Amino acid sequence: MAKPAPITIPTEPIGSIPRPVELIERVTRGDSEDPNLAPLYEDAVRDTIERFEATGSPVVTDGEQRKYHNFCTYCVYGLPNTAPDGFIIPFSDGHTRRLSRLTRGPFRYRRYADCFLDVAMRYAHVPVKQAVISPSALSLMYSERIPGYSREQFIEDLLNEHETEIRRCLKKGAHKVQVDFTESRLAVKIDPSGNLLNSFIDLNNLALSRFSPEERGRIGVHTCPGNDLDSTHSADVDYAELLPSLFELKAKNFYVALAGERDRRHALAIIRKCLKPDHRIFVGVTAPADPRIETPEEVRDGVLEAAEYIPLEQLGTTDDCGFSPFSDDTSTSRDTAFAKIQARVIGTKLAETVLGGQL
Ligand SMILES: [Zn+2]
Repeated sequence: MAKPAPITIPTEPIGSIPRPVELIERVTRGDSEDPNLAPLYEDAVRDTIERFEATGSPVVTDGEQRKYHNFCTYCVYGLPNTAPDGFIIPFSDGHTRRLSRLTRGPFRYRRYADCFLDVAMRYAHVPVKQAVISPSALSLMYSERIPGYSREQFIEDLLNEHETEIRRCLKKGAHKVQVDFTESRLAVKIDPSGNLLNSFIDLNNLALSRFSPEERGRIGVHTCPGNDLDSTHSADVDYAELLPSLFELKAKNFYVALAGERDRRHALAIIRKCLKPDHRIFVGVTAPADPRIETPEEVRDGVLEAAEYIPLEQLGTTDDCGFSPFSDDTSTSRDTAFAKIQARVIGTKLAETVLGGQL
C-alpha cells in the first residue's frame, strides 16, 4: 500500500515576547525614544529572533520589542495631537489600560510597523510576520466631535493610514500581516446587542476590501479575550456571539484563541459552522496567560481535537495571544514564552505525524 502523503499544518506566533527586564527598566525610567536605548532595542530584537529560531518555529516575529508601549498605540505614540485620557480597557483582575485620544486633526500615523520588519528581517533566517493594529481599535481615539475635523474625515484618514501600513509590510516581504482585533470580543461585552461589533467589522471590511484576493491571502485577523498581567478583558463572552460576525471579515487567515477557552469543543463547533471555504483557522494551542508550560503531547491532542472540526487544509496552529501585548508586562518570563512556543512547534509536528497516518 502506498504511504499517505505527509501533511503540513502551518504554525505561526501572534507577535509579542516579553521584553528583557533591563530594557523595561530603562524605558520606565526615561523616554522610550531616547537614542541611547537603540543598542538595547537592537540586542532585544536580535536575541528574540535567535531564541525564536531555536524553538524551530517556521515563522517568527521581532517579539514587538520596539512597539512602545503596546500592540495598539505604537503607531500614534508621541503624536502632538493626542492626549492620554482615551478609551479605558478594564481587565478581569481589576486593572485597566488606557488608549490615547485624538485632540485635533488631521489623523496620521507617526510610524508604520514595517520599520520593525526592517530590523527583524536583518536577523531572521526564516519568514517573519508582522502584526498591525486594526482600524476599529484606533477608531476609539475619536471619542468626541473635533471642531473642523469630522468623524467621516477621520475615518477616511484612518483607513488610508492602515492601508499604507499593510502595503508597506507586504512589500517588504512580511510572511503574513496580522490585524490585531482583540477589541472584537470586548465589543460584545460592552454592547451585547452586537451593534458595536458589527460597526467594527464594517469598518475593518472597508479596509480589507482595498486589497486583492491574493493580497488578502497574506492578511489575517487575530481575536482573543485580551492578555495583560495574566488577566483577560472579555473571556466571559461566548464565541457564539462573536465568531459568526467575525468570519464575515474579508480576511483569509484567522488566529483564534482556543487553548484557554473553558469549553474548546463548543468553540470548535461554532468555528465549524461559520468558517468559509477560503479561510485558514489558526487555533491557539498554548495559553500565554497560564504560567504552566504545555507539553508537546497536550498541544498534539489539542490539534487532533481541532482536526475533528476543521478540515486539515484549513487548519493551522498559533498561541492564544501575544506573550506581553503591553511592553511593561513581566507576568510571563522570556524563558516561559519560548518554552511554550517550542511546545507549540513540537506538538504541531506530532499531530502532523498522527494525522498523516505515519505512526
Ligand atoms: Zn491577543
